[in-house]
Amino acid sequence: MSGPDDRDEDRLTTGLIHHPYEPPAGFGAVAPGVFKASTVIFKDVAALRARNWREKTGYTYGLHGTPTTFTLEERIATLEGGVQTLLVPSGLAGIALVNLSLLKSGDEVLLPSNAYWPSAELARQELARWGIAHRVYDPMDVAAFAAQIGPRTRLAWVEAAGSITMEFPDLAGLVGACRARGVTVALDNTWGAGIAFAPFEQGVDISMQALTKYPSGGADLLMGSVTTRDEALHQQLKATHMRLGVGVGANDVEFVLRSLPTLALRYAAQDAAGRHLAAWWQGRREVVQVFHPALEASPGHAHWADCCSAAAGLFSVEFDPRYGQAQVDAFVDALRRFRIGHSWAGPVSLAAPYDLATLRGQAGRGKLVRFSLGFENVDDLIADCEQALGAL
Ligand SMILES: *Cc1c(COP(=O)(O)O)cnc(C)c1O
Repeated sequence: MSGPDDRDEDRLTTGLIHHPYEPPAGFGAVAPGVFKASTVIFKDVAALRARNWREKTGYTYGLHGTPTTFTLEERIATLEGGVQTLLVPSGLAGIALVNLSLLKSGDEVLLPSNAYWPSAELARQELARWGIAHRVYDPMDVAAFAAQIGPRTRLAWVEAAGSITMEFPDLAGLVGACRARGVTVALDNTWGAGIAFAPFEQGVDISMQALTKYPSGGADLLMGSVTTRDEALHQQLKATHMRLGVGVGANDVEFVLRSLPTLALRYAAQDAAGRHLAAWWQGRREVVQVFHPALEASPGHAHWADCCSAAAGLFSVEFDPRYGQAQVDAFVDALRRFRIGHSWAGPVSLAAPYDLATLRGQAGRGKLVRFSLGFENVDDLIADCEQALGAL
C-alpha cells in the first residue's frame, strides 16, 4: 500500500492499528461476543451528527451501550418481567440512581425499618444534604404506612424479604397505598432475584437488583440493574444514568451473562439447602427464633406464601438472650466451613453476627447470626454449626 506521498506506511505502528484483515461474518457460538468500547466509530460525520443515545437503535459512546450491555439489559428485563433495564456499577448505585433521578429538594422518600443498611445511610447522609427528607416505616403495618404518606412523598422503597430480620411484607397492600396517592414504588428485588416472585405483577414501578448476588453468583463482581415497564419512567432514569456516568465494564457483564443460564438452578439449590439448615436450627435450644420467610413462625410467612414458592438461601437465627455478644462472636469465629463476610449467593457459605439493639433499636433481644448458603454439602454445614456451638 502506498500513502499520498508514495511512501509505505509503517508496518509496525500504523499497519498494526489499521490492519486490513476482517474475519468472516457469521461466527456462531454459545456465548455472545464481548464488545469493549469507550469510543464508538462512526462511518461518517452525518452518522455522528445523527447519533441518538436514548434509543437502542445504534451506538454512540461506551457509556450509552454496547452490544454486550444491551444483551445483558434485555436478559435482566426478561428475568424481572419488565421492559427496559439499565445497568449500574453496583446494587447501591442502582438505589442511588433511582433516588437521584426521581427526588428533588423538598421531596420525601419512605424507607422500611428493615431496609438494606447502606440504602438507609444514603438517605441519612447524602439525600439529607440535598434537602430530601426520608421517613422510616414499619413494613408489617400497611395502615400506618399509608398514614405516613404525605403531600411531599414522591417515592417509597419496599424490600421483600427485609434485610437481616427477613420480615416479608404485604407487598400488594403497600403498593396499593402508594397507587392511591400517586407515589412511585421502587422494589429492592435482590432477595427475590426475579425467581421468587414476579415484581411487576405485585404492581411496583421499578425493580432494582444487586446483580452482585444471584445473577453473578461468583462473589467476584459488583453490578446493579434498574428495570421498569413504563417508557417515560425509563427515559427519566436513563437521562440521569447518562448524566451521572454510572456505566459498567464489559468484563463484568461477560461474567453475569455466563452465570445467568444457571441462575434458577443455583437459586433452587441454595433455597433447598437454606430451608434444610433453617429447619435444623429451629430444633436447637440455643436459639429462640429462626427468621426465614418460608417458616411458619417467621414474620410475614403468610404474605410470602401469597406470592412466592421459592426463597433465597438466606436466614438469620436469634440466640437466647442469655448468650452475650462475646459468646455469639465466639460461635461465629469457631465456624470452619462457613466463612465470615458480607454479601451472599456465591459458592461459599457465609455467616455474620448482628445486634438488634444497634440495628433496630431493640434492646433486650438475643444476638443474631445471619447465614447465607453456598454450594457445600448441607450435611457438612450442619456438622459445622454443631461443632461451633461448642464455643458458645
Ligand atoms: C447487596 C445488596 C445491595 C447492594 O448491592 P451491592 O452491589 O453490594 O452494592 C442492595 N440491596 C440488597 C438487599 C442487597 O443484599
